Amino acid sequence: MSTTLERIRGFLAEQDPPTPCLVVDVDTVVDRYRALTAGFPGARVQYAVKANPEPAVLRALATAGAWFDVASPAEIDLCLAAGAPGERLSYGNTVKKPADIEHAHSAGVREYTCEADSDLDNIARLAPGAQVSVRLLVEAPASATPFGRKFGCSAEYAADLLVRAAELGLDPVGVSFHVGSQQLDPAAWDVAIGAAAKVFAATAGRGVTLRRLNVGGGLAVGYREPAPTTEAYAAAVTRAVRAHFPAAAPELVLEPGRAIVAEAGLIRSEVVLVSRKSHSDEHRWVYLDVGRYNGLAETENEAIAYRLEVVGRHSSDEGPVIIAGPTCDGDDVLYQRTPYRLPSSLRPGDRIDILAAGAYTASYSSVGFNGIPPLRTYCISEGRPTSAE
Ligand SMILES: *Cc1c(COP(=O)(O)O)cnc(C)c1O
Repeated sequence: MSTTLERIRGFLAEQDPPTPCLVVDVDTVVDRYRALTAGFPGARVQYAVKANPEPAVLRALATAGAWFDVASPAEIDLCLAAGAPGERLSYGNTVKKPADIEHAHSAGVREYTCEADSDLDNIARLAPGAQVSVRLLVEAPASATPFGRKFGCSAEYAADLLVRAAELGLDPVGVSFHVGSQQLDPAAWDVAIGAAAKVFAATAGRGVTLRRLNVGGGLAVGYREPAPTTEAYAAAVTRAVRAHFPAAAPELVLEPGRAIVAEAGLIRSEVVLVSRKSHSDEHRWVYLDVGRYNGLAETENEAIAYRLEVVGRHSSDEGPVIIAGPTCDGDDVLYQRTPYRLPSSLRPGDRIDILAAGAYTASYSSVGFNGIPPLRTYCISEGRPTSAE
């Protein structure tokens, strides 16, 4: 059995595509999906499309039986085109226009997440009878890329919305939350599941029985540091569900993005320039052909520190570097506080691989800042380009 890296590097050696590019090994995507469904038996696993909406990725997951968390009409259309039926799509974005709901309803989407009265009214009018979950604002420990206070509402507010959903003829199914992306602390779910249980109890007291608990995404992957295993996350979630729902466990929904695609992808980049700011500067500046605006958006605030591997033979002595992208923008510096070291023999034209780069890279790429095209993606399966590329 070849590894993800061997298959991707085999493809790169054979095709030598122009850099920068992202190569996604679709077989690894399916493996990760299967590992999560096995790790959380009985749970519905729905892939957060925004992490990587490549058609080949969506096709493979649809074939494997995955559900999809969609956030816009365009994501709905991508999933339908990939062969996923509308009934397996869940509209997780609480910020939507009436036209977005109309589009989703006509595509067969039955489940919507909401956190405000006006949106609930729109769902009742434009997707009558739909299943509705309410998103909770949870106090979770900081993750690498937290949502802050952007999404969700309090437990009291959520209970009111769900009772009103029932009054409007909708099907109030439960509660959702997100503990922040790249959440390295499995205990984060305990706080959120405790808050969700309060909502279940509050609505039950008012005659509305909830049945579904969406524990969101946030499962972390190993970049330079290892992340907790799927088993560790599953154990924490299971323990919290038992503790907070002692009578009967709700249906569980898991909504990972990063944990399904990150480790399936690698970005190959090229060194454009290596320089020092003065004769006495101990740091070299290394400028790559990929940066903040053409794939590495998650280096903002150095939130995600990718593992880098220099391709080919190099001297074993390494020195400290500051790593920057290719554009004429002062913010296009990837790492100046996070310590990185690269070989002293590094020269322009050398290749650097950015590992575990399948999530939140190509989908975050600008359309052409400074004339630089969006990050090109190649999908492979069994080491060969997938069809319809
Ligand atoms: C982005 C997002 C996810 C996926 O989060 P990951 O941290 O990539 O697992 C899941 N659910 C919702 C509602 C999201 O917005």
